[in-house]
Amino acid sequence: MRKSILLITAIVLFVSNYAVAGVGLVVSCTNCGYKSKEVREGGGLKGIEQTVVYCETCKNFFDIPTRVQFDVEANKRESIVASVGKEKYLGEECFVYPCPVCGGRAFAYKGKICPVCKKNNLRFQEAFLWD
Ligand SMILES: [Zn+2]
Ligand SMILES: [Zn+2]
Repeated sequence: MRKSILLITAIVLFVSNYAVAGVGLVVSCTNCGYKSKEVREGGGLKGIEQTVVYCETCKNFFDIPTRVQFDVEANKRESIVASVGKEKYLGEECFVYPCPVCGGRAFAYKGKICPVCKKNNLRFQEAFLWD
């Protein structure tokens, strides 16, 4: 009995740790060979949720801080980027954000169509976990 309680506690701790960790992604296209740098998605221990966006001008995926998940001292200085609207991009309804590099339009896009060659070969691969 005592053993199973310990096991359950361990599982709950593991799951809650996982819940505050984010996933690192690499976006690639098997048709044209496009490959993004590593981008982060989800929240970390700092309680800031990262969203992956694609910028039409820079032709690259970026991660931007879009939401405070919970308040901790470490995230007081983080600036949150607000969405400027919602729009259809390559067939998906996407939130639009200002690009962190050029200030242009970046889409929170997670579809299958490659924004570079427009073929149906885009992959979001989980590359690492972060916190
Ligand atoms: Zn492509
Ligand atoms: Zn840009």
